[in-house]
Amino acid sequence: MKTINVKSMIPSREECGCSLPHDKTLREVVIGRGIIDDLPRFLDILNVGKPIAVFYDKITFKVVGEKIVKLVNGLGFDVAEPTFREAEKKTILTEGTQTVIAVGGGTVIDVAKYAAYKHMAPFITIPTALSHDGIVSPIVSLFSESGRKSIVTKAPIFSLIDLDIVSTAPKILFSSGFGDLLAKVVSIKDWQLGRDEAGEEYCYTAEKYTMKALEIILDCLKAGQAKDYGKLAEALIYSGVSMMIVGSSRPASGSEHLFSHYLDMYSPNRAPHGIQCALGTLPTSLYHEMYNPNWWKNPDYSWRQLKKYMEKAEIPLNLRQLGIPIEIAVKALVYSPEIRQERITILHKRRPTEEEALQLLRETQLA
Ligand SMILES: [Zn+2]
Ligand SMILES: [Zn+2]
Repeated sequence: MKTINVKSMIPSREECGCSLPHDKTLREVVIGRGIIDDLPRFLDILNVGKPIAVFYDKITFKVVGEKIVKLVNGLGFDVAEPTFREAEKKTILTEGTQTVIAVGGGTVIDVAKYAAYKHMAPFITIPTALSHDGIVSPIVSLFSESGRKSIVTKAPIFSLIDLDIVSTAPKILFSSGFGDLLAKVVSIKDWQLGRDEAGEEYCYTAEKYTMKALEIILDCLKAGQAKDYGKLAEALIYSGVSMMIVGSSRPASGSEHLFSHYLDMYSPNRAPHGIQCALGTLPTSLYHEMYNPNWWKNPDYSWRQLKKYMEKAEIPLNLRQLGIPIEIAVKALVYSPEIRQERITILHKRRPTEEEALQLLRETQLA
C-alpha cells in the first residue's frame, strides 16, 4: 500500500510566496490492492463522527457501496442524476450527518462533496473509477438549469483508492483519466497567460504538483504501462491537490476544458469527461503553438507528441466515431470562451474564426 501524506507536502503561503489559500483539508491518500477492508481502521484514526452517510449510485452500490455501508455501519443514499437539484435534495435527506463518504465516479463524488460541504462534515472519497481528477479536488461540477456549472466547496479529508475496485471499471474510463491529465499541458499555459496578460495570481507550488501529475503519466505511457493504475491514481491525486492549494480549478482547467464543457451543453452525444478534454487539448495546443510565444519548448508537449501519448492511452480521437458533430466542435472552439469570460485562455486572447477552428480540427485530424 502506498500512503501519500498530503498535508506535509504543502508549504505555507509565505513559504510559497503567493496569496492563494494553500488549503490543507486533504490529509492523506492511500492507494493499494484489497485495502477496502481496512476502512474502519482508517476511520478510527481519522476520528470521524457518526452517523455516516454513504453515497453511491445503482452501479457502484453493487460494486462495493453495499459492502461499505455495512463496514462502517452507515446510512446509504442512492444518487440519481448529476444536477444541483439532486445535490440539494440529498443535502436535506442527510441532515444531521457527521461524516460523508462518496463511493463512485464523478457524479456521486460531486453530489456527496456538495452535501458534505453544506453540512460542514468531513468528506471521504472511495473512487470506483480513475476517470478524472476531481477525486480530491474542492470543485463540484454539476448541471443547473442554465447548463453545467462549477463551484468551489471543500476537498475531502481522506481518500482510499482500492486498485482491485477501480480495475473493474470500463476501460474507456482509464483512458479518460489519462486524457484529463494530458490536458494539463494546455491548462497550465492558459493559466500563465492569465498571469502574464492580466496579473492573475499564480502559485508555483500548485504548478509543481500539476507538472508532477503530468510527468508521472508521461513516464507510464513512454514505458508502455498504460495499465499501471496505481501510477494513474497517484497522478490524479496530485492534480486534485494542486486545485485544493489554489482553491480553484485554474491549474487543471483551461481552454481544453471549456471545449469539453461546451460539448456537455450542446453535443447530442457525449464522451467521458477526460476523453472530451483530450479532444480539446489537440486543437488548443496547436493554437498555442501558433500564437503563444510562451508555449513549451519541450518537444514532448507538442500537439503531435501529445497525440501519440493519447493513442498509447487508447483515447478515441475521431469526432465522427464518437458521434460529436464537427459543427459543434467548431463552435466549441469559437464560443466556449463565453462560458467563462473572466478566465483568460488562448481562445480568449485570440478568438478563432469558425474557419480557423475547422482548420485546427482538420490539422490535428479530429475531423
Ligand atoms: Zn478535468
Ligand atoms: Zn502558492
